[in-house]
Amino acid sequence: MALFEYSPAPESRSVVDIAESYGLFIGGEFVEPTDGRRFTTISPSSEEVLSEVAEAGQLDIDAAVQAARSAYSRTWSRMSGRERGKYLFRIARIIAERSRELAVLETLDNGKPIRETRDVDIPLVAAHFFYHAGWADKLGYVGLGPNPRPHGVAAQIIPWNFPLLMLAWKVAPALAAGNTVVLKPAETTPLTALAFAEICQQADLPAGVVNIVTGGGETGRLLVESSDVDKIAFTGSTEVGRLIARSVAGRPTRATLELGGKAANIIFDDAPIDQAIEGIVRGVFFNQGHVCCAGTRLLVQESIEAEVVDALKRRLATLRLGDPMDKNTDIGAINSAVQLARIREMSDVGEAEGATRWSAACTLPDRGFWFPPTVFTDVAQTHRIAREEIFGPVLSVLTFRTPEEALAKANNTPYGLSAGVWTEKGSRILWMAQHLRAGVVWANTFNHFDPSSPFGGYKESGYGREGGRHGLAAYLVADETTEVAR
Ligand code: NDP
Repeated sequence: MALFEYSPAPESRSVVDIAESYGLFIGGEFVEPTDGRRFTTISPSSEEVLSEVAEAGQLDIDAAVQAARSAYSRTWSRMSGRERGKYLFRIARIIAERSRELAVLETLDNGKPIRETRDVDIPLVAAHFFYHAGWADKLGYVGLGPNPRPHGVAAQIIPWNFPLLMLAWKVAPALAAGNTVVLKPAETTPLTALAFAEICQQADLPAGVVNIVTGGGETGRLLVESSDVDKIAFTGSTEVGRLIARSVAGRPTRATLELGGKAANIIFDDAPIDQAIEGIVRGVFFNQGHVCCAGTRLLVQESIEAEVVDALKRRLATLRLGDPMDKNTDIGAINSAVQLARIREMSDVGEAEGATRWSAACTLPDRGFWFPPTVFTDVAQTHRIAREEIFGPVLSVLTFRTPEEALAKANNTPYGLSAGVWTEKGSRILWMAQHLRAGVVWANTFNHFDPSSPFGGYKESGYGREGGRHGLAAYLVADETTEVAR
């Protein structure tokens, strides 16, 4: 029996106005794609078609890059940092004003719970623009000399797991630094990027400073291969990251890549267990596990394994899965049929390799893409579920006896994006943080983000940082090495 019964508490859909179709946002206007191709975007929780979106081809990419180049040379690179900052503050304020609408739109298009878009995604989006607005006239303090310069035109490609937040991580620092951008959102989640295009119009941002080209992987490839972009920023799979790294090799184009992860969340026997359980849930079941830094490998000290796993299962049984528009929902829909198939396949592989599978007993809706919170025990380091990114609500539990063993197991991965450590000993936290090969290490918490904190990985998790001074520096070049803007 459920601990509490919840009445439905649906957020109203009436705050959003989704157009039947959208064009490409190039040079400050919505324009039709040259070859007229379009695709649909659906709501993953109901499979309802939300809108038709333009698919950008070669000529559209050329036009978008040209618009960005011209806005860079004629307007944006000539403007003072203080003036650029005003535009960014204006965008930030509009995002804050329209936050409810953006949260609803994101939830409809992505499938994630409204509680997360309302309380996490959209507030962080606004925070990123406010934070970078403040930097725009202080670039001399980034650490690249007194007068660092922008790269020029930045091509930005983002995934579907945090659509508007990933846009903010990319667009805000690029504009603050004086670059113009061409951004491609993911095929399954284009709507909030298109709403952002409207926000650029509302803020009177000069035409061509931000261009949004929708489309699939092929559109992304065309953008990456454009000879007139100076900088590429990508977030997504390691596989596509490799293709991009190959494409920029031998070109003067700079690239930052934020790729996959297989983070260890390490629980020592002196950890506050109740808090750690919440941290495990937040670490891997937040956003249906569609999180590159998710704590998908739980490393628990052997003596408390049974206690932790029992408590975790009890907690997972209380999570509410269902309509993402309901304010009480904890677990929303999987973003696409393709991603659901991948999660199912990897979970079947886990069982076939000998791990023990447990899933929370929740009723899955008839329509849409759903997967219950799932925990694998008896997992060995060699199992694929312990090595490969699943990108779904699936946790693998492994054990350790000593801090050295925990560290060796945590670092035994081709990735290195994030890690978590739970213990009451400050000295152990510092020792672990010093030796973990991960870009971010959380102590007695997990999945906390702030615009001022750099985020990024080691090894196959990519290179470069986003956020903070380091993230901003990735959009600048030191004055002495800068070529004159074309
Ligand atoms: P992708 O890496 O394919 O997608 C990320 C972005 O890159 C999307 O906008 C995508 O377009 C675009 N893209 C795809 N192919 C190319 C290309 N050749 N050149 C340039 N851009 C391209 O991730 P998927 O959505 O396919 O997800 C697959 C797996 O990747 C997941 O199961 C997960 O493990 C991992 N992943 C990791 C993310 C992270 O944040 N680290 C985010 C997303 C996925 P489009 O989507 O429109 O095809």
